[in-house]
Amino acid sequence: MGVELAYTDAVARATEGLYAKVAGFIPKMEWHAYAPVIAEINRLKRAKGAVILAHNYMTPEIFHGVGDFVGDSLALAREAARTDAKIIVQAGVHFMAETSKILSPDKTVLIPSTKAGCSLAASITGADVRLLKQKYPGLPVVTYVNTSAEVKAESDICCTSGNAVRVVEAIAREFGTDTVIMIPDKYLARNVAAKTGVKVITWEGACEVHERFTAQEIRDYRTAHPGIVVLAHPECPPEVVAEADFAGSTAAMINYVGDHKPRRVVMITECSMSDNVAVEYPDVDFVRPCNLCPHMKRITLPKILDSLIYLREEVTIDPMIAERARRSVERMINLKN
Ligand code: SF4
Repeated sequence: MGVELAYTDAVARATEGLYAKVAGFIPKMEWHAYAPVIAEINRLKRAKGAVILAHNYMTPEIFHGVGDFVGDSLALAREAARTDAKIIVQAGVHFMAETSKILSPDKTVLIPSTKAGCSLAASITGADVRLLKQKYPGLPVVTYVNTSAEVKAESDICCTSGNAVRVVEAIAREFGTDTVIMIPDKYLARNVAAKTGVKVITWEGACEVHERFTAQEIRDYRTAHPGIVVLAHPECPPEVVAEADFAGSTAAMINYVGDHKPRRVVMITECSMSDNVAVEYPDVDFVRPCNLCPHMKRITLPKILDSLIYLREEVTIDPMIAERARRSVERMINLKN
């Protein structure tokens, strides 16, 4: 970072409201290091007409300190398309920035670290999808949003962890088939297959964060915290999902907490999410599993600041690929039921 920043009275005043939100998770000493960077980022956003889209897995100083829009990857991409801002900084991983660019081709989309990848997105290429289509001609390809633009471009429709069952059933109906190709997450595909009569051919991809959870861990949480409510992400292995009280996307898990206000809960997903959600629900006791996503954690406040100062790294997509990828994403968005 090329800018000298200090914790001054002006910085303290500019950030005191933000600190009130995260005081339970961030010690004062640590905040003194974050606050000057947060104040400068927020000043630059206004000066340059930029917005920051912060994923649910960002650390609290990013999520609550500088995020203008927060949520899961699809919600963020939709905000990217809706906002009037010409510059979007994606505080998330690369496929999310690509999805924002796909839906907002005329805006400048920046990612603070080009190394912020994803084990799911890295597991499959466009050429792999073309081979799958040759092997299973005529079957629709349903692609999880956690993939590159090139893979989305080869697909018939995208899905999220929140709408996967609905998308698989709708596209099977539309193609008049009882089988679909669903890529690249083998666990999401199996969890979806368990909920629908549609047969699913999948790929050997997995999220390196969610695949580490085990059914035994869930049983251990229940023994250590009797009465605890267990919420699991559908990228977890099916035996983990089977042990949970509820399985759903990050947005669905947050809604579950809001609707049911459990006394004590554990979210079986990336560990920053509990910190971010706990801010909104101080009466709920969050037991925190600690599986960090190393890719998400490449996004830091200093890197976001650099991104805004130097307008880097800009995400670009071949227009032909972007156009085909957009069709897959929009087909999902426009799905009626
Ligand atoms: S949490 Fe998993 S799916 Fe999400 S970015 Fe990290 S590796 Fe990819």
